[in-house]
Amino acid sequence: MLRFFRAILVALTASLLLSSAAFATVPYYGEFSYWYSDASKIGQFSNYSNSVGMSIAGGCGMLAGTLTTSVDYALSAWSLQNYSYTDASDYATADLKIACISRSTANSLGVPSNYAGFTFWDGESLIGTGTWFGASKNIYSVPRYQIYYVWDTCSCSNNTSSLSLTVWKGIAAHEHGHGAGYWGHNTSDSTQLMYPSRTSVTSPQTKDKNHLRNLYTVN
Ligand SMILES: [Zn+2]
Repeated sequence: MLRFFRAILVALTASLLLSSAAFATVPYYGEFSYWYSDASKIGQFSNYSNSVGMSIAGGCGMLAGTLTTSVDYALSAWSLQNYSYTDASDYATADLKIACISRSTANSLGVPSNYAGFTFWDGESLIGTGTWFGASKNIYSVPRYQIYYVWDTCSCSNNTSSLSLTVWKGIAAHEHGHGAGYWGHNTSDSTQLMYPSRTSVTSPQTKDKNHLRNLYTVN
């Protein structure tokens, strides 16, 4: 990697007057060892230590213990070696934000109406590319993420207010997987946590972990 960056610095110096398109080049990481996602991008936390903030917004009736227990479970279930998590002193400035919001709030944010959880990266930057059998994949550095759990009391199949702690643990682990870098889903294997629909699987399985092993050491 170091050699790559040095080569790019030299190239930048030599091409200062070229168009900005010349600066779009990022390092090529090579062929990935695994790829199980239907998405063409993957991420990696920018920092080894991340502060974690949690919030229960108005309209969410989730117990605080359910929120903290499920998040703690998710962070440890992925077991990303060398990465650690601390309690944020302030939700607003946390690196990793997990909030429970009402369905109406989720609707206003554009969250699909049948989702129980939703994740997006915040401030990510493209740091490289790789390939999987000739298909190009983008690699992002992820400094922060935002996860939403959606509290829904509808008399319908999307009711999340009656879900057990075990189910919330599974949702938390799935969403944290997205936040840590597993963008997209494994649409072909329902035995994996990163299958798009909720199943009885509540922890990362071999293919889930292997996908993140492209960028992490996963215990
Ligand atoms: Zn998902």
